[in-house]
Amino acid sequence: MSEPRIPLVAGNWKMYKGPAEARAFAEELLRQTTNDEGEMTKAGNPELAVFPPFTALPAVAEILRGTSISYGGQNCHWESSGAFTGETAPGFLAELGCQYVLVGHSERRSLFGETDETCRKKLAAAIAAGIEPVLCCGETLAEREADRTFDVIERQLRAALADPPPPGRFTVAYEPVWAIGTGRTATPVQAGEVHHFIREWLGRNISAEIGERTRLLYGGSVKPDNFGELMKQPDIDGALVGGASLQVTSFCSIAGAARSYLTGLI
Ligand code: PEP
Repeated sequence: MSEPRIPLVAGNWKMYKGPAEARAFAEELLRQTTNDEGEMTKAGNPELAVFPPFTALPAVAEILRGTSISYGGQNCHWESSGAFTGETAPGFLAELGCQYVLVGHSERRSLFGETDETCRKKLAAAIAAGIEPVLCCGETLAEREADRTFDVIERQLRAALADPPPPGRFTVAYEPVWAIGTGRTATPVQAGEVHHFIREWLGRNISAEIGERTRLLYGGSVKPDNFGELMKQPDIDGALVGGASLQVTSFCSIAGAARSYLTGLI
């Protein structure tokens, strides 16, 4: 029997918050959720993680390192060093104590030319550097309307994971592009069926163990009042949150919705 999956509520800050604001957020988040030793204070808590912009990572690391709140980069390169102006190696993130890195967020795919192939290389490089990649996948509205959702997800998974990735953990975030930043959330049934598809795909194409243990997050206009219902889907293990992660109160309320579900309150 594999271990139960620990739910994860992760905040993608995108290009918001410089170092000062990020530090204040991290201090407040710590104050609201942990005791003096930096341990989570509420039973049944999901794990929390924040993904600040690169320049804010050292400030966040200074506050959160050694606590039970995780942090990570929003992107990385696949090489460990070299003449790649403007890029960040996974090892640099590891040096800052990052536990995670986002790979293939739809904004990186659509605005910055990230491809399935670069996602594959980044995912492998992150794992090799000891960082858990969060591989983002999701269909556009046109793809959903053309009934191509599962084909697109399968293509993205196959491209990033088909050559067996190095041993190590990864997380998958299903983020329908039409739901990101639009206020339009996938229904629990829509999200649940894609998550189920992803879990089955991992089990069939990588291994039963990876299918069972890999955390699958939902992302796309998650808010405190819609997350409880999404968490009830058996294959949803948490959320990747954009807009609603920018305020400590709403981020904590989403974590609270996950907790209520985990402790049987909803
Ligand atoms: C995201 O940036 O990954 C995201 C899901 O954004 P939002 O929650 O604002 O839709």
